[in-house]
Amino acid sequence: MKKIEEYVRSIPDFPEPGIIFRDVTSILQDADGFALAVDSMQALLDGVEVDVIAGAESRGFIFGAPIAYNLHKPFVLIRKKGKLPCETIESSYDLEYGSATIEMHKDAVTPGQKVVLVDDLIATGGTIEATARMVEELGGKVVKIITLMELEGLNGRKRLKDYDVASVICYE
Ligand code: IMP
Repeated sequence: MKKIEEYVRSIPDFPEPGIIFRDVTSILQDADGFALAVDSMQALLDGVEVDVIAGAESRGFIFGAPIAYNLHKPFVLIRKKGKLPCETIESSYDLEYGSATIEMHKDAVTPGQKVVLVDDLIATGGTIEATARMVEELGGKVVKIITLMELEGLNGRKRLKDYDVASVICYE
């Protein structure tokens, strides 16, 4: 059986020179790879009590939704600003150039709920940190953050030091 790392295609100099882009499409295009990725991420939740799974647009949906389905838990969509139809709260975070704003529905998490955040990859940790802030604003508790990949060199874990973070694959 192939290891999960073997399904990841690494593309040098994308989207700009010097960056190695870790591509998830090569995992998803293979049924075994997709299943292994979801199962490996879900295994990181063994022993964790969870009420809600939340995933960030768009690749957080791909992995978060099947995990929520398997665990029979609700799935909450974290979306880019302006996409959600009902009352929302928002959170902004810095990008290399400029900033981004994400939103979630106000009624998606209720006070005291245990929330797991899911994304495909942690780089600087900015996206996940902004997501965690919103969940906390609604009174939810972020009990775990899980991702398929983590780029250790970008220090996301340091930024997320107040949280329990686990990823399946770590790249230096
Ligand atoms: P962060 O907010 O800096 O942690 O960046 C994480 C977000 O950027 C994730 O939602 C990823 O989808 C995306 N991202 C950053 N680098 C890569 C990469 O090498 N491969 C795939 N996605 C990436």
